[in-house]
Formats: sequence, structure tokens, C-alpha cells
Amino acid sequence: MPEKVVIIGSGPAAWTAAIYAARANLSPLVVEGAISEKNRINSTMPMGQLYLTTEVENFPSWPFVDPSAMKTYAQSALPPERFANIEHNYSGKSAHTARRSATGPEIMEFMRQQAVNFETRIITDDIVKVDFQSKPFKLYTLEGKTLEALSVIVATGARANYLGLPSEQKFINNGVSACATCDGALPRYRNQPIVVVGGGDTACEEAHHLAKFGSTVYLVHRRDKLRASKIMQERLFANPKIQVKWNSAVEEVQGSEEEGVTSVKLASTVGSASESVAARGLFIAIGHTPNTDFLGGQLKLDETGYIIWTKPQRAWTSVEGVFASGDVADNYYRQAVTAAGTGCMAALDAERWLNEKGLV
Ligand code: NAP
Repeated sequence: MPEKVVIIGSGPAAWTAAIYAARANLSPLVVEGAISEKNRINSTMPMGQLYLTTEVENFPSWPFVDPSAMKTYAQSALPPERFANIEHNYSGKSAHTARRSATGPEIMEFMRQQAVNFETRIITDDIVKVDFQSKPFKLYTLEGKTLEALSVIVATGARANYLGLPSEQKFINNGVSACATCDGALPRYRNQPIVVVGGGDTACEEAHHLAKFGSTVYLVHRRDKLRASKIMQERLFANPKIQVKWNSAVEEVQGSEEEGVTSVKLASTVGSASESVAARGLFIAIGHTPNTDFLGGQLKLDETGYIIWTKPQRAWTSVEGVFASGDVADNYYRQAVTAAGTGCMAALDAERWLNEKGLV
């Protein structure tokens, strides 16, 4: 018997789709991704980008709470083996003592559990190939399984591009971030100098956002012209807290394990001298890459590889019965809450489509 709906991915879009599909009696199967070295290196491990962040202050329904109360909640909500994944939130170096909102890993574990509570089934494996020509659709896993599905929801997300420096990797979550909206308001950046790298709209937007918290924001760009839209550039140049470092590239992130990032060494791209800029944070804003390679060109993608929604306000793709949600189809908002919203849309669209076709 083919599955009624297979959901590929395990971020906010995937689990929200699963919760809705499960409650609509579609008995969803989630392929959450493999726990592999390749996925670790590519930042595409199961549970999505939120699992790589610390506190998430903009996901509605998580006002500040005493960490010990959160621990009690998490222990009550999750089975021991899943609680073990986030136990470090309550002890050791990453423990918070002050009242705080939920962390990315907590939110993701709660979402996953909510889907499991309604009998979502989960496979911890990657989909490496699809066949959307055959009916039912066929999905091939890394471990060699073939799944058959009447409908599919693709929610594999996107990964932030990093510069690829060893020193950058070392300080991820300890001063290096690829999301100012997620991390900018953290206490470590308050009234401190911050570096943003990139020259597009995202870099300008992130610099603006960070200027609300930091003392000075240095926008480091490799050329002498920004790629960003004119209006974003004008706003950037008008902000007295932002200084642009033209023709510059990040050479090394400097700091210590205890303090995190303390400075960023910049190399000139036009042969001038290197310089070291004191900074408590380095925000990388050099674009994202959607996780769509495994689709093998079988869904219509835009020129940057994102899945195109083919109907306005619907999660439909270029193949009937295949739906897309979350960052894999969104290079604009890229927020956990919007991903969750489109996950809901994809599940409702799949349910309606299956009903209309008489498949369930
Ligand atoms: P983007 O437009 O592709 O810009 C990426 C920037 O990063 C470019 O300036 C590029 O430099 C630089 N870059 C790329 N690789 C680099 C590397 N290895 N080292 C140093 N710099 C590197 O990406 P984006 O800013 O994320 O924007 C993506 C899309 O979303 C765009 O269409 C944008 O308009 C849209 N967006 C819109 C808004 C808004 O309207 N509010 C906000 C955010 C994003 P070069 O310029 O030298 O190539």
C-alpha cells in the first residue's frame, strides 16, 4: 500500500505539515534526514536550521520562563531519549540561569513530539532520489529503501552559506551566526561592535537590525559596490552606527572558547594592508542554498534553486500531488513561523487534493 502522504524534512514546515496531516487521518510518514557526517558538515542534519540556534525570541507562544520550569516542561513533554538531546540546555556551559524564551532545539523537539503524539511515523534517513513521473510517486532513501506515496510534501529547507574558514566553524553559536533576526538581540551583542559580511539585501537588512543592539556595525564587502537594492543601500548609508569596509574579506575569526568572538581579521581584496577589527560577533549574510539537489530537476525551480509555487497562495508545485513548504520554497521571509505556516498550508492542500482525486 502506498503512503497517503510522505513529508521530506524535519524543520518547522515538516513537523507542522505532519501535525495537520496526522490530525486529518492521513497517517503521515516523515523522512527526517540521516544522522551522517555529510549532513553534519553541510549543516543539514535532521531538525532543521532552528536546531542550530540558541534562544528563539520571535516564535510566538514562548514568553520568558525560568529555565528550571522549562526543564520540567521538557521532561514531561518528551520521552527520555529525546530529552537527552536537549539536556545540555539545562546544565553545563550552555545552561542559562536567567529567565529566557525557548531555544531552537527545545522548540524543534516539542514540534516533533507533537507530531509523534498524533501517530506520525518517522524514518531517520535521507531521500536521495525521487520519481515524480510514476504514480504512486517513488522516493529512494540513502539506506536503499523505496517508498511509494500518493502525495509528497517537500520541506527540506535551505542552508545558510558560510565562508568556509576553519575559524568561522569554530565559533558558530559562540559569536558566529548566519541569522541576525534569530541571534541579534542576545545579550552578548548589546553595545558591542559587530561585523556583518555580504553586500546584498540580506546583509543590509541584518546590519540595520544589528545596529539596534550593537555599538558599531561593520559591513564587510568584497567589492566597492553593494549588490543590494538602492533603497536598502540608502538606508544603510544613512545609519550612523553602520560603517562599510569596502574591498575587504574575512580572513580569520579570532577569540577564545570562553569569550567567543573578540575580533575579526580582514584582508584587503585590492592589495591594501590587512586589519583586525574588534568585534563580539560575525554575522554571515552571503546567501542561502536550498536543499533541492535530490529532486533531480523534477520540480520547477527558480534560477537560485528554490522550488516555485505554481498557484498563488497555495503550496502546489509543478507536479500535481507534490507540495512544498518552508524555506525550500521561500527565499524571502525565511522565518520559523512562516515555515510552520506554509507547512500547515501544504498539509491542507495535500488533504484536499487527495480527497478531490478520490485517493483517500
Ligand atoms: P545575494 O543577493 O545573492 O547577495 C549575496 C552577497 O554576498 C553578495 O553581495 C555577494 O558578493 C556576497 N557573497 C557571496 N559569496 C561570498 C563570499 N564567499 N564571500 C564574501 N561575500 C560573498 O543574497 P541575499 O542578500 O541573501 O539576497 C537573496 C535574495 O533575497 C535577493 O533577491 C534579495 O533581493 C532578496 N532579499 C530581499 C530583501 C528585502 O527586500 N527586504 C531582504 C533580504 C533578501 P558580490 O556582490 O560580490 O557577489
